[in-house]
Parts: sequence; C-alpha cells; structure tokens
Amino acid sequence: MIVVLLGPPGAGKGTQGERVAAALGVPKISTGDVIRDAMKAATPMGLAAKSYYDRGDLVPDNVILGIMKDALSAPAQAKGVVLDGVVRTVPQAEGLNAVLADLGRHLDLVMLFKIEDEALVARLSARTVCDACQSPFTGRSPGELHAECLKSPKGHLMRRKDDEPSAVRNRLHVYEHQTAPVIAWYRAHDQHIAEIDALGTFDEVRTRALQAVGKG
Ligand SMILES: [Zn+2]
Repeated sequence: MIVVLLGPPGAGKGTQGERVAAALGVPKISTGDVIRDAMKAATPMGLAAKSYYDRGDLVPDNVILGIMKDALSAPAQAKGVVLDGVVRTVPQAEGLNAVLADLGRHLDLVMLFKIEDEALVARLSARTVCDACQSPFTGRSPGELHAECLKSPKGHLMRRKDDEPSAVRNRLHVYEHQTAPVIAWYRAHDQHIAEIDALGTFDEVRTRALQAVGKG
C-alpha cells in the first residue's frame, strides 16, 4: 500500500504516519531522508543532488523525483511505503504519479489530516519549553519557574517563537495556499482521499488513522 500524508504543521501527521507505517509493515520515508541516503550512497541521482546542495541551491523537482524513483524501486519499499512531506505542490503530485506509473505502481491513498486552524493555534501555543534545559511542556504558562530544572540557575518556561499564535497562523496560511490546489488536483484525478479528524487525543487520532488503512 502506498500512502501520501498531507496535513498542516502541528496536526501530528508525522508521528501518526509512523504508526500507520508500522501497522502496514512498511517504511515511512520523507524527501529529506531519501535525498540524504542517496547522497551518502553516491548514486548518480544522489551526486546530482549533492552538486546543488553544495552550491547552496534548492535541489530541483526532477532530481528529487529521480531519487524518489530509486527509493521506490528498492526492495525495502516493495510492499509499500508511507510518504511524508513528499507531496506539497501540484507539480510534485503529478511527478509522483508519473514515477509510480513508470514503476507499474499506483498511489493507493492520500491521508489528509484535518484540524480547525484555531484548534491548532490553541494546541501549539499551549506548548512551552524551559529556557535553560529545553524540556518541553504542555499546558503550563510562559514565565513559570521550571522547579524541577536540573540546570543552575533553574530556567523559566517560554513559548517558542514558532508557536506564537501569529506565527502559527502564518504557517497555516502558507500551508492552505500550497495544499488546497494539491487536494483539488487529487480529487480531479479520482484519487481516494481519507480525511482524518486530527482533533482529539493521540490515541483517538491514531485509531482513526489506522481505520483508514483497514488496520483499526
Ligand atoms: Zn529546565
């Protein structure tokens, strides 16, 4: 089974995707992982990627797709794969489908994690970290002393800049802008899309995600 994960930052698609991959008995791979592996293995596509990387340039889509094709041809992915962060734009969705068609395979499922923006803003802005030891917390207030801190002096809890409501809304805006056309493209191509309600506890969301792949 070949699954593409889509969802806004903070919706938990990465960690839930790992559970889905484990339940299916297939690996979960991301674009970053396969590029790193290809560069390390010095495959022709890996070396092509490295030449862009070393110049500080973005690796172009055609090279990424070549690397993805190599990765999807590997025995480890014969049974299937869960793809995280591989499809963010319409050209990437088109490219992935073309690569799969070349390999005589097809995308079985797009798993779309959905959550209201304001729920995500609330979830992310409830996160704090200790400014001394970096321990993460949920539901504790910024400014609070980290009483159990092992550093001396003890740190205080702070909200990361990325988790400020305005920063979260900005990231969600970018995501919506990029992803809405991808979802429309998949719908226009009769791709099976499973919408996963990502609001709830980790276990609730995991149950929904596993049901979507028949492993609930
Ligand atoms: Zn601390």
